[in-house]
Amino acid sequence: MTSSLQICLPADTDNYCVMGNPISHSKSPQIHKIFAEQTDQNLFYQAILVDPDCFSEALSEFQRLGGKGLNITVPFKGDACNAVDHLTARAKKAAAVNTIWFDKKGESHGDTTDATGLVNDLRANDIQLQDKNILILGAGGAVRGVLSGLLEQGVQSITIANRTHSRAEELVTNYGSDERLSASEFTDLKSGFFDIIINGTSASLYGELLPIDDTLAMNTCCYDMVYADADTCFVKWARENGARIALDGLGMLVHQAAASFYIWRDVSPQTSSVIEIIRSKS
Ligand code: NDP
Repeated sequence: MTSSLQICLPADTDNYCVMGNPISHSKSPQIHKIFAEQTDQNLFYQAILVDPDCFSEALSEFQRLGGKGLNITVPFKGDACNAVDHLTARAKKAAAVNTIWFDKKGESHGDTTDATGLVNDLRANDIQLQDKNILILGAGGAVRGVLSGLLEQGVQSITIANRTHSRAEELVTNYGSDERLSASEFTDLKSGFFDIIINGTSASLYGELLPIDDTLAMNTCCYDMVYADADTCFVKWARENGARIALDGLGMLVHQAAASFYIWRDVSPQTSSVIEIIRSKS
C-alpha cells in the first residue's frame, strides 16, 4: 500500500489502483492480480491511501504518472463523481463513481459497477429478482448505487428502511415516480412479505444488529453487503432465524471488480474461482 503523496507506478506495465481511506483492508489488489493472471494481462494494481481532502489531487497525480484506471472506495465515491469529465447514466443516477478510466484525449470517465456486482452475485447464487418483494436496510451510498440496477430486474417492490428515516424518504423521493419504491421505519416492517432482505448498512462492520423483528428473516434470502473473514452478525442472525439463504458481500465485491476489469481491459474474468480463492485465504 502507498499513500497519495508518494504514488509510485512500476514501468513496463499498465497501472491501476484503488483509492480510499482506510484502504489497508482492501481485497481489490488480490482480486485484480488473480484476474490479470487468469486472463494473461500485463498490469499492476495497488491500493493507495488518500488523505480526506486530497482526492482530486491524487487522481490528477495518478493520471500524470501514466495510470490507466482506478477503483474508488469509501469515502471518495461522491468526490469521484464530481472530479471526472464524463459520467455514465447509471453513475449520474447513483451520484457515485467506483470506476474511472482515461480516454485518448486524456479526459476521465466515471461509472459505478456496484449494482452489476450485486445483481450478478445474486444471479450466481440462483436468487431471482423478477417479481420479488425486496427489503433494503440502509440508505447510504451503497444503496443509492444499487437501486436502479435492482429496479431494472423487474422486482415487484423495494422497501427501504434506514436508521435515519429521512434519508430513506429522500432516496425514494429522488427516484420520482417509481411506485415500486417506498420508505419504512424499522418497526413497521411486515413479517412474511419480503422475499429478499439486503443489508446495505455498515452495521455489521461494528458487530451491530439492526432493530428489526427476528421473524422477518423466515424463508427469505438475506444478503449482507459487508463481508468479513467470519460470518457477519447479519448473516448469523439470518441463519438463526430461518432464512433460506444467507450470504455476505464478498461475491458482490468480486463481481463489481470483474465489471471494472472488463471496462478497462475488454476481457471478462472468471469470478467463481476467485471468490473461492479469496474466501480460502481469509
Ligand atoms: P455510507 O456511509 O454511505 O452509509 C452507511 C449506511 O449504514 C447508512 O444507511 C447508515 O445509516 C447505516 N448505518 C451505519 N451504521 C449503522 C448502525 N450501527 N446501525 C444502523 N445503521 C447504520 O456507506 P455505504 O453506503 O457506502 O456502505 C455501506 C456498507 O456497504 C459498507 O459497510 C461497505 O463496506 C458495504 N459495501 C460493500 C460493497 C461490496 O462490494 N460488497 C460495495 C459497496 C459497499 P444512517 O443514514 O442512519 O447513518
